[in-house]
Amino acid sequence: MATRRAGERGGELNETAVARLRSRFKGELLRPEDPGYEEARAVWNGMIDRRPALVARCRGVADVIEAVDFGRDEGVEIAVRGGGHNVAGNAVCDDGLAIDLSEMNDVRVDLSTRTVRAGGGATWADVDRETQLFGLATPGGVVSDTGIAGLTLGGGLGHLRRKYGLSCDNLVSVDLVTPDGMFLTASEDEYEDLFWALRGGGGNFGVVTSFEYRLHPVGPEVAGCFVFHPGDEATEGLRFFREYAASAPEEVSVLAFFAFVPDDPTFPEAARGEFALAFLGCYAGPVGEGTDALRPLREFATPLADLSGPMAYTDLQSMLDEDYPEGMEYYWKSQYVDDLSDEIVAQLRDAAATAPSTLSTVDVWQLGGAIDRIGPDESAFGNRGAPYLVTFEANWERPEDREANVRWARDGLAALRRHTSRGAYVNFPGFGEEGEALVRAAYGDNYDRLVEVKSTYDPENAFHLNQNVVPNA
Ligand SMILES: Cc1cc2nc3c(=O)[nH]c(=O)nc-3n(C[C@H](O)[C@H](O)[C@H](O)COP(=O)(O)OP(=O)(O)OC[C@H]3O[C@@H](n4cnc5c(N)ncnc54)[C@H](O)[C@@H]3O)c2cc1C
Repeated sequence: MATRRAGERGGELNETAVARLRSRFKGELLRPEDPGYEEARAVWNGMIDRRPALVARCRGVADVIEAVDFGRDEGVEIAVRGGGHNVAGNAVCDDGLAIDLSEMNDVRVDLSTRTVRAGGGATWADVDRETQLFGLATPGGVVSDTGIAGLTLGGGLGHLRRKYGLSCDNLVSVDLVTPDGMFLTASEDEYEDLFWALRGGGGNFGVVTSFEYRLHPVGPEVAGCFVFHPGDEATEGLRFFREYAASAPEEVSVLAFFAFVPDDPTFPEAARGEFALAFLGCYAGPVGEGTDALRPLREFATPLADLSGPMAYTDLQSMLDEDYPEGMEYYWKSQYVDDLSDEIVAQLRDAAATAPSTLSTVDVWQLGGAIDRIGPDESAFGNRGAPYLVTFEANWERPEDREANVRWARDGLAALRRHTSRGAYVNFPGFGEEGEALVRAAYGDNYDRLVEVKSTYDPENAFHLNQNVVPNA
């Protein structure tokens, strides 16, 4: 197994090969000296500072094939960028080639099949905008400027998850350029093994040029819940959430999180900066029914702030966007758990209340419902059956606070892991520093089959800047 390393060629590119690529490429090719390069190498997480030797901004499948062929033939490290929102910053590399799909973001709804096809560089805002024209949606994430590619390939948890499943569960087909430059369409009927692996197995198998998803009737208005309860009710609040979640209909998908109320005019002045337990969620069904179903979350205590109510689905989808500006520093790690024991509740609350940054949160994602209607071995996605995912989101502004914030998330996760034998979610991987251990635990019993598929399609591990499944030698 040949695994290319960053800087193997010292950042030197073969100029004849670059000139040949330039003569065939329709999109932009950016070198460090070119205007636009600095912007092209920046990703969402401001902690990531990598300098690819070449950024290939593809305009179509033919460009992607040219770029993959170049990267492979020249033996340079290859990074792939969808929405550029991966916390670990894997969309860029040092010295190698960054294949950037951000301009391949076309979205087309097909009403006859009730599906949508979206380019590998689209964001959830791009997809929701087009599908909501028809009162339809496919499950995405909870922040609209996240890329559909990385999110879907790793699974995809959003506001519709318990009613309609993960993003990857809604895939009908995937167009892919393989490491040997072949274009293929994987679905239930073609390249079934690859299609199985693409549903959760991450960016291990090539460059996805477009995704086709099933659509469902959603909105345009939904019942949304976004309420902050006072910090002195936080422990009791998460215990209450545990009871609520156990019996909630699957139309309800809620995220409970400990946070400090943002210093933002959207919130009452008295509440700003207060420690709180928030519930954020949605009812994927009639607004009236949803208002009733979500009411207990709002009425559990006297809220510090309550932004709940009927709202446009697209507003719900973008409600958190401003909380995650590009260029700030972020370190997110996660762990599936089987229950929320009183001990875990207390641990999470205490960790959140003592976070070194008031921008950080500890999140508990309610799972189950449609996610568990797909068998654990029907797709690569691991840890189905877990009722909750816990995420430590360290978010801070100043580079000098980096160490304390990263340590906070690591310590919190380490304490939580003493209570569970489950793994992590690959889309919240920290820096990916746990390597194979994290990947194995994330996929569990599906890991060996993923290795087989990886060994078939990417035996040289050309695509390894991801939560890497290492092929057999
Ligand atoms: C603000 C924010 C909110 C988030 N919210 C959610 C959420 O609600 N639910 C959830 O499940 N996750 C969420 N995430 C995590 C998210 O799923 C991952 O960060 C994901 O990697 C983002 O995808 P991207 O395309 O934007 O990232 P990129 O950094 O562009 O890509 C990440 C990786 O995906 C692979 N990849 C990207 N594009 C392609 C492609 N076209 N073909 C093949 N491989 C590709 C590559 O391996 C790449 O390194 C969130 C992240 C952020 C930053």
